[in-house]
Amino acid sequence: DVVLAVHGVESAYGNATALRGVSLSVARGSAVALLGANGAGKTTTIRAVAGLLGIHGGALTGGEVEFNGRPVVGLGSHSIARLGVAHVPEGRLMFSGLTVEENLEVGAAARTTPGADETRSWVYETFPILGERRRSAAGLLSGGEQQMLAIGRALMADPSLILLDEISLGLAPLVTRRIFEDLAAIREQTSTSMLVVEQNATLALEFCDSAYILENGRVVHQGLSAALRDDP
Ligand code: ADP
Ligand code: ADP
Repeated sequence: DVVLAVHGVESAYGNATALRGVSLSVARGSAVALLGANGAGKTTTIRAVAGLLGIHGGALTGGEVEFNGRPVVGLGSHSIARLGVAHVPEGRLMFSGLTVEENLEVGAAARTTPGADETRSWVYETFPILGERRRSAAGLLSGGEQQMLAIGRALMADPSLILLDEISLGLAPLVTRRIFEDLAAIREQTSTSMLVVEQNATLALEFCDSAYILENGRVVHQGLSAALRDDP
């Protein structure tokens, strides 16, 4: 049972080609890592899935993306979000003047199922610091707390797939590890599928079931995490 299938996706920013035919799939309930050097095309792949290439001056020039068996190329990012794809962007963008709780409300806007209040309570149980600071402005949180909020906001949409772009960026190793442990617990509780872009390959292979390695806009290697760990 495949939740996400990317078939031969090509994309460019103006004249600059970024993806040269990327194919990958995410089985329902699994976590898949997207690895590779800076500029390999990891973020662009995430943007292609989320329908966010356009706002970054890019375009999809070939290939298909299917979410739950449904072609999503050409749908806008809001429509894709409402189908159940949540995006945690690089840099944990949030509304720094809004409170923690208000930022969670922003995530709930993409929700199509009832039960937002229950989900919010569960987010606060999962990340107790967010519950404690629910009335604080998001901009006053630490980097790790902001990352938890960005993940919590994604969860508010009750997604079946979460795209996580470099959540470790700028965080201390212990904080990053803690957040991946929280994500592992979330996966166990919800069977939410995850596509994880991560610079720290060791950590990503520990958390994910399988991985794709990108180089210059192409998949050059793929496999189960266990095999990739043994044979880097
Ligand atoms: P990665 O996430 O693996 O670091 P990216 O997907 O960000 O790689 O980038 C792939 C290629 O596309 C790189 O050559 C990068 O410079 C280029 N690129 C990424 N974003 C933009 C953008 N907004 N405008 C122009 N070029 C971009
Ligand atoms: P970049 O800084 O990489 O160019 P953008 O500012 O274009 O990124 O935004 C990337 C994504 O983040 C978009 O989906 C946009 O709607 C969202 N976004 C931008 N600013 C905020 C914000 N303050 N809070 C929440 N989401 C935001």
